[in-house]
Amino acid sequence: MVEYNIDEIRGEFPILSRTIGGKPLVYLDNTATSQTPRSVVEAIDSGYLDFKANVHRGVHTLSQEATELQEECRRRVRDYIGASSVEEVIFTRGTTEAINLVASSFGSLFPKDGEIILTVMEHHANIVPWQLLQSRRPDLKIKVVDINDKGELLLEQYRSLFNNHTCMASFCHVSNVLGTINPVKEMIAYAHSKGVPVLVDGAQAIPHMHVDVKDLDCDFYAFSSHKMYGPTGIGVLYGKKEHLLRMPPYQGGGEMIAHVSFEGTTFAELPFKFEAGTPDFVGIGAFPKALDFIDEIGIEKIAGHEHELMEYAEAKMMEIPGMRIFGNAPDKSAVISFLVGDIHHYDMGMLLDKLGVEVRTGHHCAQPLMQRLGISGTVRASFAAYNTKEEVDAFIAALNRVIPILS
Ligand code: PLP
Repeated sequence: MVEYNIDEIRGEFPILSRTIGGKPLVYLDNTATSQTPRSVVEAIDSGYLDFKANVHRGVHTLSQEATELQEECRRRVRDYIGASSVEEVIFTRGTTEAINLVASSFGSLFPKDGEIILTVMEHHANIVPWQLLQSRRPDLKIKVVDINDKGELLLEQYRSLFNNHTCMASFCHVSNVLGTINPVKEMIAYAHSKGVPVLVDGAQAIPHMHVDVKDLDCDFYAFSSHKMYGPTGIGVLYGKKEHLLRMPPYQGGGEMIAHVSFEGTTFAELPFKFEAGTPDFVGIGAFPKALDFIDEIGIEKIAGHEHELMEYAEAKMMEIPGMRIFGNAPDKSAVISFLVGDIHHYDMGMLLDKLGVEVRTGHHCAQPLMQRLGISGTVRASFAAYNTKEEVDAFIAALNRVIPILS
């Protein structure tokens, strides 16, 4: 696939040809999870049918093959994100676990009275782990960067929050509600100028843009496979080796030890120190197929296509009386959060579903942001590589049908 051949791309996703209540499926909930191409599903199948044996534990052939598949994925991810070595690529259950790992392990090294900078647009996955740390360490303080009316971070305020106590900054690369693409490189450089390490929640960025962790110079970068056409249940924590070496293990168990005795236990080398227990090695083995899918089209082409769809949809949506779109940053990813008049987001989502249009409704795991916007939730439409203008038309037509019913 060299050109952007939408029919060929859609052909990779059998689910897209199904119907919902007799209507063609229009899947616009890609921010929650993207659909999975056949190549990934076949690799998962093969992982179970041809390769299944536990990794890193056996001398037998099957175990070695399964281990090789997993470690091949680690090398692929290293190259995909531009990490320096496989030691910096830790497999997790997803973005959530990656951030919990950092908050729990790296957080245990924070100095007394340390301050953590977050932003008001964070997903709960980048709020609650820090609060859990704080519940064990009441001396720690959390500070929050606000947004402007367009949904952009107040960078001046961000800079003003740093002081001698600041020990961590953690923020999303792209907001899952507003779509805002944050200037993370600039934000990281500023934090580093104050000696502060940075975690970037990349869950909504990496499916839509090229990410180079060395270029960003982030200390940690977290993302989930299932939002980037890959298997569910796996994700990645990238961490700079210098930090990972100092950090205590996050969980204990098999795989993460060098030697265990009741007198004392020593831990495995990186990255295994942070990978206790049997990983989802079948999912990990299949993940490279998702990266191949993205690479074969080209991430810039995917982003360009999604952006076109978003602009097309937003222009049509703004013709609808009472339409409010939340998140109007010039630098925006393909997410549209909206409300119409005083129609409840839940009712809107229910009726759109009756017309085959699958959108997300609610607070999108960003309750502090909802509170900041003074609303309980939104309807959210989000786009992926396989969406089409015809689907946007169907979405707009569905909106125009349900709005009069709900008004
Ligand atoms: N961070 C952001 C910005 C998200 O959008 C999400 C999921 O929607 C997460 C974190 C959590 O991802 P996961 O549930 O895959 O761990």
